[in-house]
Amino acid sequence: MQAGWKPKSGEPRVLPIYQSTTFKYDTSEQMARLFDLEDSGYFYTRLQNPTNDAVALKIAQLEGGVAAMLTSSGQAANFYAIFNICEAGDHFVCASQIYGGTFNLFAVTMKKLGIDVTFVDADADESTISAAFRPNTKALFGETIANPGMNVLDIEKFARIAHSHGVPLVVDNTFATPINCRPFEWGADIVTHSTTKYMDGHALTVGGVIVDSGNFDWEANAGRFPGLTQPDESYHGLTYSKTFGKMAYIQKATAQLMRDFGAIQSPQNAFLLNVGLETLHLRMERHCSNAMRVAQWLSDNPKVAWVKYAGLPGDRYHDLATKYMPKGTCGVLAFGLKGTREDAIAFMDRLKMICIVTHVADARTCVLHPASHTHRQLSDEQLIEAGVAPDLIRLSVGIENADDIIADISQALGE
Ligand SMILES: *Cc1c(COP(=O)(O)O)cnc(C)c1O
Repeated sequence: MQAGWKPKSGEPRVLPIYQSTTFKYDTSEQMARLFDLEDSGYFYTRLQNPTNDAVALKIAQLEGGVAAMLTSSGQAANFYAIFNICEAGDHFVCASQIYGGTFNLFAVTMKKLGIDVTFVDADADESTISAAFRPNTKALFGETIANPGMNVLDIEKFARIAHSHGVPLVVDNTFATPINCRPFEWGADIVTHSTTKYMDGHALTVGGVIVDSGNFDWEANAGRFPGLTQPDESYHGLTYSKTFGKMAYIQKATAQLMRDFGAIQSPQNAFLLNVGLETLHLRMERHCSNAMRVAQWLSDNPKVAWVKYAGLPGDRYHDLATKYMPKGTCGVLAFGLKGTREDAIAFMDRLKMICIVTHVADARTCVLHPASHTHRQLSDEQLIEAGVAPDLIRLSVGIENADDIIADISQALGE
């Protein structure tokens, strides 16, 4: 994937790491124009850096968006994506089937900032989900493929609901990646990622990104989004929607949120992310074909109680996956063994090549037992309420030879 860094004659072929906090100008006037957002350019790496921007541009092009911004983590990306359009007193609606870290951010931490959220069952019908909207609702949020439930989002349905209430649809596209799904083509307005996962792909760097499609008409819904459509006092009365048009959302996130919170990705990490992105299309193909083989092998195995993988015909989300991700979904699947919680733990301890790590979506196959790890404080009853079966094993299938992955699972099952 060559988008992003486009060297001119004589410049380095590989994206350089601009390892500099600051940038030099010939005149004080030039610098002043940057501070007033009258010119575009770099002045301080807390807001923007050329290495980051080349990588953000590559991701924007992969997603088919107009602009993107790298953040220090996926958590920061989801926080900024919402906080860029919500303030104290506002509300947003969110699918309940989402990553636990995002759930906590939205349900606990953002509530402390005065931003309220209502969680809805993403599989509910349009009128049920619509009933959660209020006059102060500013966004609808969901994940293309939910972590770890492996539910697939009906993006068109969500986009219809969001737009009928005059708000943007924000989709976390971490698990599908733009290789397998481009939510903008189905009506999403803003996409986020934890780049820590497939985009980096090698478990090297924590990072995130926000991409804007440029499609949401802030001016048409001006009363609901004063932050974008009314003058910003911290920039001498500049109005983002008027000055920047389709770039307004990312310009505001950079000018206000990066300036004030500074959760920017380091240029070193952006460089490593860029290396990962250059093979994303190849790795996703392999992750999906391997995961499909492993999912099929597991579902045929008498020691396995159940398998959740939307690629499998017969999976509850297979039809949605076929519609939105015809090339494949992702490498992550969930399954349960017949037997007790202790049997699941013993199985994992017997794995040799597959490692137990708190991670998903990298080149090496890895495994986690949420009931013993990320959700270990919950009783079996509480786990079931949280949608995490006590026997759920989350397997992130890597890009090794599929026969080796299956052989390791098979020996750990005592075969
Ligand atoms: C991991 C993850 C996040 C959080 O990203 P970090 O980079 O760990 O901060 C957000 N959304 C999804 C779907 C994830 O899997």
